[in-house]
Amino acid sequence: MPDQPKSFTAASYNAYLKEGKLMGVACRNCGKLSAQPRPLCPVCHSREVEWRQFSGRGRLSTFTCISVAPAALGKQGYGRNNPYCTGIVTLEEGPRVSARILGVDARSPQNIPPDLPVALDLSELDPERPAPVFRPA
Ligand SMILES: [Zn+2]
Repeated sequence: MPDQPKSFTAASYNAYLKEGKLMGVACRNCGKLSAQPRPLCPVCHSREVEWRQFSGRGRLSTFTCISVAPAALGKQGYGRNNPYCTGIVTLEEGPRVSARILGVDARSPQNIPPDLPVALDLSELDPERPAPVFRPA
């Protein structure tokens, strides 16, 4: 059975993540790339959009280290004494995605360099809550 194009929803985006793919939406009218799975171009409002796979490489543009963890992360050992890092990654294709950042010292955020090169790592994807994770490349 050939793959049918998935609808432009968060559920489809998550299904792609489980397949190991970071997907976004490309506008066939104006060429705008977006990391948000919406059936509408954010620039020209065209509905002529298609899925586009991103390389998963980018740079960490901004980040914050959080020591008050939500319950799901608390169970993984994050919290006051083990903060976790979340940030905005600017993909090499241009769009920005919000993601967890692993492999950095969240206890010493001053040591995390600006524009750190990062790469997608879906090896520890939580199938219940799929979300992109990046590590220093
Ligand atoms: Zn467009």
